[in-house]
Amino acid sequence: MNEHAFYNILVVAWIILAAIILLVLFFIPAPYGRHIRRGWGPLIPDWLGWVLMESPSAVGMAVLFALGSAPRTVTAWVFLALWEAHYLHRAFVYPFLKRGKDRQMPASVAAMGLFFNLVNVYLNGRYLFTLSGGYPAAWLLDPRFIIGAAVFAIGYTINRWADMVLRGLRRPGETGYRIPQGGLYEWVSCPNYLGEIVEWCGWALMTWSAGGLVFAAWTAANLTPRARDHHSWYRAEFPDYPLQRKALFPGVW
Ligand code: NDP
Repeated sequence: MNEHAFYNILVVAWIILAAIILLVLFFIPAPYGRHIRRGWGPLIPDWLGWVLMESPSAVGMAVLFALGSAPRTVTAWVFLALWEAHYLHRAFVYPFLKRGKDRQMPASVAAMGLFFNLVNVYLNGRYLFTLSGGYPAAWLLDPRFIIGAAVFAIGYTINRWADMVLRGLRRPGETGYRIPQGGLYEWVSCPNYLGEIVEWCGWALMTWSAGGLVFAAWTAANLTPRARDHHSWYRAEFPDYPLQRKALFPGVW
């Protein structure tokens, strides 16, 4: 089997798995953060889990770029820069900024996250920098790129802002929870997840690739059930939790 055939089979298998995971996560919340519980094996520091899970995406994309056989056009550089703008922060900055980073997470969660990120970086980086044959510079003027990049930027900004608001809810050393307020938090419980989903939908559009699409689907599969769980948790924990606030999609759900 050549790599193109392998890639296509992996895309189909990966999207089917995303649908299964979406269903599973509606019944079994991923056991980290406020939903951590016993029975998921040995624990490691939360910050270490995040570095282990997310660094393959940052490093893997750079390696696939370096090894790629397609022409290294300005478009390829732009894709690399946008991906790394997210993942260098997520893997090597975010884990150390978190308040409560000394909490723990199951090593099994970190292992699953690592596997998820390895497959996704392969599906994206290998396609963009090799299997696609390359994106010409003119792709930067294509409406799919322009609209996708704008959507990506909006999602990225929402995600970073929303994570920053959550950080501000704790003083250094604190581990408790407060009700987040302001901006999109008036509308939904998890604007960080909303931003992340929007961001990768933008990525799928601007790369116009099956790898991008399947990654956006996986992000939604991971974060939609978790948004519902966070929302229910807030309502159970805080009797004064704002009634009009939805879980993930403003005014809808
Ligand atoms: P959470 O919203 O659960 O937590 C983010 C951080 O904020 C944690 O440190 C958490 O502490 C803290 N926090 C959350 N709510 C409160 C509150 N009410 N009061 C005080 N502190 C709070 O996000 P995740 O940890 O699930 O995800 C982190 C980032 O990773 C997000 O940007 C998310 O979009 C992204 N992500 C992306 C995925 C993908 O598939 N692409 C999958 C999972 C996450 P604590 O940990 O102690 O609960």
